[in-house]
Amino acid sequence: MRDERHTFFSRLGLEKHSDAYTRYYQTHPDLQTLDDAFRGGDFKHALKLPSEVKQSVLDYVHQEDAWLRHAHHDSVAYPVALKPKPIRTQALKAVLYDEGALDVMVVPLEKNDYYSHHGTVKESLYLDLNDLPIDPKYTHAILYATALDEMAIKQAPFVESLIETMRQYSNVAKMAFKLTKVLKDHGYEALAQHREYYELPLVPLAHKHHFGTVGMANHIIHPKFGNRLRLNAVLTTAPLEVETRPKFDVKRFCNHCALCLMNCPTQAIKPHPRRNSEMQQFDEHRCFVMFQKGGTDCSLCITSCPFSFDLNASILNTLETDADIDQWLKNYLKQWGPKRRPSEPSTYKERFYGTQL
Ligand code: SF4
Ligand code: SF4
Repeated sequence: MRDERHTFFSRLGLEKHSDAYTRYYQTHPDLQTLDDAFRGGDFKHALKLPSEVKQSVLDYVHQEDAWLRHAHHDSVAYPVALKPKPIRTQALKAVLYDEGALDVMVVPLEKNDYYSHHGTVKESLYLDLNDLPIDPKYTHAILYATALDEMAIKQAPFVESLIETMRQYSNVAKMAFKLTKVLKDHGYEALAQHREYYELPLVPLAHKHHFGTVGMANHIIHPKFGNRLRLNAVLTTAPLEVETRPKFDVKRFCNHCALCLMNCPTQAIKPHPRRNSEMQQFDEHRCFVMFQKGGTDCSLCITSCPFSFDLNASILNTLETDADIDQWLKNYLKQWGPKRRPSEPSTYKERFYGTQL
């Protein structure tokens, strides 16, 4: 069973020399020095922008954090109707599609899908749950996704990708709060997951039920919507109809491609899979160097992936042999060049400053 206390952001949330910190690193001494180098501070202050623009971006992020905190507590406090009413799975999915979800799938939950314990990340919601066991009481997850805007993500690793990432995190959270309310109005327990509150990790769940598949960069690649996804889920006790989907596999393509690995500026993505796992070996400390240097979450592994823009399952199905894949990649690289770095001037001023901010 996975444990949220082992996640990188939970470990970084441990206050140096606190009891929880001492307890954690007594059992994981190998991580202490590495983690300490990243502890404290907010990476977003490293944004390289004119000071007044930077302040606007930081204010925007702060505003989103405050909104999310209030919305989370409102959603948790919202009462469950006393008498359960019948609920149609299709009608629930329609709530999310109406709000802009690209794909929605209901999957069953098992105990092993959950984290065993809460980590520190929920402290941003003013919740100190670290070390508490998680009760795997929800029976179903409604998985769904939106896509990061193509133009903004092409500007990675600059501020556009940070703002777009925040915007989509807020979009999927708004959808989750809305759906949670509908479920509670029908008399069922429901919990909105969002960027500051997870009871279970989404990537393994989405991979297990073939909502998408894990690519070399450890993101979920969706057969139709690719690698620019913002995944989310609502957990519930409602007796919903679950769905099964065929397996979608990108492993063979990834082994020929490796563009995310080659474009990663810190060599965080390793060329080998993890033992007994579908995930790739990955050095989170190296990845976070980019956050700290640039003030954003980099995203070059998304920008460099053919599934983010041009490739999908239908095209992949036509590439029958290894030679077909190599030829497709050759054409792709002719169009984009080996490194898919921003080639257009920054658009943050028109796109964000003075409009959304
Ligand atoms: S976000 Fe950047 S540093 Fe991190 S794995 Fe992706 S490309 Fe590498
Ligand atoms: S960039 Fe290539 S190797 Fe990496 S996830 Fe995408 S398809 Fe796979």
